[in-house]
Amino acid sequence: MSTAKGFASRAIHHAYQPQENEGALTPPLHLTSTFVFETAEAGGEMFAGEREGHIYSRISNPTLDLLERRIADLEGAEAGLALSSGMGAITSTLWTLVSPGDEIIVDETLYGCTFAYMRHGLTKFGVKISHVDMTDPENLRTVISDKTRVVYFETPANPNMRLVDIARISDIAHEAGATVVVDNTYATPYLTRPIDLGADIVLHSATKYLGGHGDVVAGLVVGSAEQISEIRLVGMKDMTGAVMAPFSALLILRGLKTLALRMDRHCASAQKVAEWLEAHPAVSKVFFPGLESFEQHELSRKQMAQPGGMIAFELDGGLEAGVDMMNALQMIQRAVSLGDAETLIQHPASMTHSTYTPEERAAHGISDGLVRLSVGLEDLDDILEDLAQALPGEAVAEAA
Ligand SMILES: *Cc1c(COP(=O)(O)O)cnc(C)c1O
Repeated sequence: MSTAKGFASRAIHHAYQPQENEGALTPPLHLTSTFVFETAEAGGEMFAGEREGHIYSRISNPTLDLLERRIADLEGAEAGLALSSGMGAITSTLWTLVSPGDEIIVDETLYGCTFAYMRHGLTKFGVKISHVDMTDPENLRTVISDKTRVVYFETPANPNMRLVDIARISDIAHEAGATVVVDNTYATPYLTRPIDLGADIVLHSATKYLGGHGDVVAGLVVGSAEQISEIRLVGMKDMTGAVMAPFSALLILRGLKTLALRMDRHCASAQKVAEWLEAHPAVSKVFFPGLESFEQHELSRKQMAQPGGMIAFELDGGLEAGVDMMNALQMIQRAVSLGDAETLIQHPASMTHSTYTPEERAAHGISDGLVRLSVGLEDLDDILEDLAQALPGEAVAEAA
């Protein structure tokens, strides 16, 4: 299918032909661990890379293959790779790219397990992790060197919504010969396409918006055909073994079909919820790219088609007030993860980002009172009403 088609059409059709699959509208699930060689010679040729074809499902599988082509198309990349989780995607990618003595420069704020993998994992193997406040790209220029192998960041960052200017950071990183890796989990390719802006590799926790229904843990990576082949054959096949199960691939393919629709709804509702929270007397601060008060509002307009479905906020009463509010919620669910149909709320300092020490959280801009809200697909009035009855004060829910 030509890439001239729109995003929603490509998310539904790209790289699949029913006529080649017994007319099946929905792609078949190739539930097989291994693939039969026509002859012994053919098997040897496949292992030598001289012949196309599937060998074993830790290397490739036709159901995963379709998902990999589809996400590569949506991200504007040459190739994609499906992995067992977002962390499987991150570890398989970075194990492939770095060697002892190399440096990775990362933004101040990262998802908790990514932070733990780098700070407490990769450093054990002689990889240097340096944090830089990338909200000002010039900060990168002052620390980058010929030892810098990778520049890595999330935008918006989990959990505090910091944005990073992908185009400017990529320019500075490339001048120094570094590879730019972007975790695009929060934005999805529907809102931001980092490769178009100069990034080299984009990865996802497909568990979140791409799957979208809270029923699968999965990861994806896209980049050049050469990079992805290396991550597949070194990082995934030999180092992490973090291959995606074929059934998970089918669930992500199903999720992608409604990604555009869901994101439009997530974003529209989140904008209203953020405005409502900002006007609430018990709320001291709201971090949401679509608010005029958001420090990087301009950058969000430049880099994101819409401001996304994630909100971070703080209450006047700090952590204690946040805990009380979370416990009083009735429809909104107390759970980690994000991007699901259900509105989810969690407390990063004690949950997703408890991998940071308290000192590290303070140094990396994750306050103890911060609450993270993933705005779901329920009726907006019901989301506001639940927040209103759970927050201190007499405020009445009103669709802003
Ligand atoms: C959840 C998340 C991850 C990890 O993904 P898993 O699928 O849970 O392994 C990585 N990055 C970000 C931004 C996330 O939100």
